[in-house]
Amino acid sequence: MKKSLYFLLLVTSFIVKSSMLQAQPDRWQQRIKYQINVNMDVNTNRFAGTEKIDYWNNSPDTLTRIFFHLYWNAFQPNSSMDVRSRELGKTVLREPSRFGDGLDWDPRVKDRISKLTPDEIGYQNVATVKIAGVAQELKVHETILEVVLAKPIMPKSKIQLDVQFEAQVPKQIRRSGRDNAEGVRYSMSQWYPKVVEYDYQGWNANPYIAREFYGVWGDFDVNITIDKNYFVTAGGDLVNANEIGRGYETPGAKPVSPSGSTVTWKWQAYNVHDFMWAADPSYQMITRKTPNGPLLRIVFKGTDTLDARWQKVADSTALAYPIIAKTFGPYPYKTYSFVQGGDGGMEYPMATLIKSASIGTAIHEWMHSWYQMMMGTNESLYPWMDEGFTDYATSRVMAEMRGRSGFAAEGSYRSYFNLAKSGMEEPASTHSDHYNTNFAYSAAAYSKGAVFMAQLGYIVGEKVRDQILLDYYYQWRFKHPNPNDFIRIAEKRSGMELDWYKEYWINSTKTIDYAVGDINVENNKTMLSIKRIGKMPMPIDVLVTYKDGSQEMHNIPLDLMYGVKPAENDIPRTVHEPWHWTHPEYKFSISKGIQEIKSIEIDPSMRLADLNRNNNKLVIPD
Ligand SMILES: [Zn+2]
Repeated sequence: MKKSLYFLLLVTSFIVKSSMLQAQPDRWQQRIKYQINVNMDVNTNRFAGTEKIDYWNNSPDTLTRIFFHLYWNAFQPNSSMDVRSRELGKTVLREPSRFGDGLDWDPRVKDRISKLTPDEIGYQNVATVKIAGVAQELKVHETILEVVLAKPIMPKSKIQLDVQFEAQVPKQIRRSGRDNAEGVRYSMSQWYPKVVEYDYQGWNANPYIAREFYGVWGDFDVNITIDKNYFVTAGGDLVNANEIGRGYETPGAKPVSPSGSTVTWKWQAYNVHDFMWAADPSYQMITRKTPNGPLLRIVFKGTDTLDARWQKVADSTALAYPIIAKTFGPYPYKTYSFVQGGDGGMEYPMATLIKSASIGTAIHEWMHSWYQMMMGTNESLYPWMDEGFTDYATSRVMAEMRGRSGFAAEGSYRSYFNLAKSGMEEPASTHSDHYNTNFAYSAAAYSKGAVFMAQLGYIVGEKVRDQILLDYYYQWRFKHPNPNDFIRIAEKRSGMELDWYKEYWINSTKTIDYAVGDINVENNKTMLSIKRIGKMPMPIDVLVTYKDGSQEMHNIPLDLMYGVKPAENDIPRTVHEPWHWTHPEYKFSISKGIQEIKSIEIDPSMRLADLNRNNNKLVIPD
């Protein structure tokens, strides 16, 4: 099945195939295959499990140890996640209001972990890790397990690990857990001992304190044995669907009713970097088939008062798919599941856990299938490539669904401006776990990341930016791109140098502010000046409108770009000599006399993230 899926991917599109061949960067990556069996006790909320893991060390390095994530150990009083949350809660962001207490902690976490009782905590205890029957030395570092290997793993070789573990599902605090606010019994994410990604930067053994994930691409076979009254859903395909029934079966199949008290649900997912499942006795499922796209499964509690909203999620996400596919590339798996569960919205491969059944959240989480599930960026290091690109995509898709075209990221700009003026901004290149505040992390990762993409359209032109989105999809999906990889794609497609954009926007907190300067006459020519007040240089569009109603667009490229964007509209355009980034002022001539000017405006499209827009427009009174 894996081979045939891969073959299908190759033959469905020549563009996919040729661009993969041309642009496949010479970067190795590890590979993994999990076979997991778990037996859930719904009375104690505990389960025992085994994992058979095939691990391919494709790196040029000899590995003397291997790390696992044990995420649920975070849900214990005094864990790093607990203490970190309580520490962040000491920062006062604003006055308390009906929207919250104004403190910087995550409202879902707060000090709740510190109050968990022994039967409410989460844990993952690994009893043994064996290689070829030999038990390896284990060192537990809270949410990270270090396995010291008796025999090193040689470069370009494969090993098989046998893992035995037991776990207790934590009371729902963050992302995963039992008995969430809407009464879903099990939101099962971050639930199994998961091998840490090893890449060209080494092990990424980040302790779990709050933020998101990074994993090894691989295949999952997961057998879940659970009380027969439970309905199970997952980010994957149900292998024994015709045995189970419950709406999963092919038409005409005759499901067998289980003889004992439990049923085993057999799931598979191929070429993913995580596996999530959920279970509840009152789950029901509706489906929607998207045109030339996946089957959508919407799973929610049948008793739920949000019933009508889940129906709307089903209809809206199905309608959204053609919009998504044309702009961001086709969804490559057969199914996607929107599942009621968790504590807000959290993305996983082929599925999401959502609370409150909002369409915006559903689209956002699904867009993570592009910007995280397919790209697999390192979310600890580059959260803006995950949340930022996803937020940008969500705005675009939602706007188009509502019949709006063009620019669609105003909310992200507002949030970024608020961050830049707050005095709390840190560079977006900060490791996501290590920001000083949750506020600065969120605004940088989500909003500044979204503005990165929207503003790129200003620099290279909207059409070129959209081609970059598709190039990025075809050339980097399933390959863990980093910021440089994205910039190189953008440079190749636009024919511009763009490293400066990443360095200023992502690696610094420098801000943009341009102002309309002076108008005067020199040698019978009307000269206009534009002033750079902020520290970040940008190319500048200036729209001059005359009293007779005519307009002219003046484009001043930045010298660091070594290129010019194509004209974006029908307004006559003059491209001037590049502006040296070192120079605070730039002068250029316009075609008509001073008396004829009605207004002068920097970037009327508002895509330039200019922190002070009050000085961007000069209107000459009649
Ligand atoms: Zn997100």
